[in-house]
Amino acid sequence: MGRDFVTLPKAEVHIHLEGCFEVDDIVRLASENGVALPRPRDQLLKVAGGLTEFLQFLDWICGLVRTRNQLAAAAYAFSNRMAKSGVGYADVIVNPTHWGQWRRNIPEMIAALDQGFAEAESDGLPAVGLCISLLRTQTADESVELVSLLSALRHPRVVALSIDGNETAAGRTGPRFAEAFRRAGAAGLKRTVHAGESSDASGVWDAIQLLGADRIDHGIRAIEDPKLVDELAKRQIPLGICPSSNVTLGLYPTLPDHPIEKLRRAGVPVSINTDDPALLGLRLENEYARCAEAFAWSDDEIRGLARTSITASFAAAETKRRLEMAVAAW
Ligand SMILES: [Zn+2]
Repeated sequence: MGRDFVTLPKAEVHIHLEGCFEVDDIVRLASENGVALPRPRDQLLKVAGGLTEFLQFLDWICGLVRTRNQLAAAAYAFSNRMAKSGVGYADVIVNPTHWGQWRRNIPEMIAALDQGFAEAESDGLPAVGLCISLLRTQTADESVELVSLLSALRHPRVVALSIDGNETAAGRTGPRFAEAFRRAGAAGLKRTVHAGESSDASGVWDAIQLLGADRIDHGIRAIEDPKLVDELAKRQIPLGICPSSNVTLGLYPTLPDHPIEKLRRAGVPVSINTDDPALLGLRLENEYARCAEAFAWSDDEIRGLARTSITASFAAAETKRRLEMAVAAW
């Protein structure tokens, strides 16, 4: 093959800051705070148990980020990771409920993240938009409160309201969050919704009909409902797909079994993303390479996928135009 996927201009639109801490970062933060590691360093990311234990570990990591400088440094490191994978723009999901030190002080949290992203940008690293996320287990009141805060703040770094979390555990929650998402849309925020991974196709319908999703995170189980696939294609609602994350978490046995190619061929806008790259051991350029091989994609098809990642992003129009032109030249 010999194709260079680092130099392929692209955006990353489904990635959680919480899933971007490398072992080195975690060890350093723990030592800065005088906190003992729960396991030896070489086994740090090997969390025993299921999703619940995994999410608790995530909260433990984020709990180590306590000062403004530590949070700004995490943002800067994120931009650096993006640059190394040849990402020209990223929308990053940050869920305040995971960050013990910040969950009650979201304006300060956004200011610290903005400081790190702005520094990175002035050093020539790619631009990043913040998608502030609700957790599926939060209440309707909490969701409206977050949106009120965001719309009063109107911080230029914040591009979207997001929602994530385990829908198998939380059950159907679309109706509970409809009002918050309606208000977010009215306040000029984009809306991105985790659905169709830990929920089935009905979760994706709710994301479209109740939450007004501009983009769906995962959305892969739409493949189980042909009417939904038609709807996504007709309305050109993009899916931010994370193939290796889905295989690792057991949704599909192998990459060739993953529905991304069927969705793409059905005309649904699909992009390739990494979800929680440090925790899953992923790099975006490798994800493109693995999928290109599994589905025998031509250069034209790869350019199409990169272009979709850019159009699906919440980047400024000027950034999109520049990146799209660069894709054509790849
Ligand atoms: Zn995700």
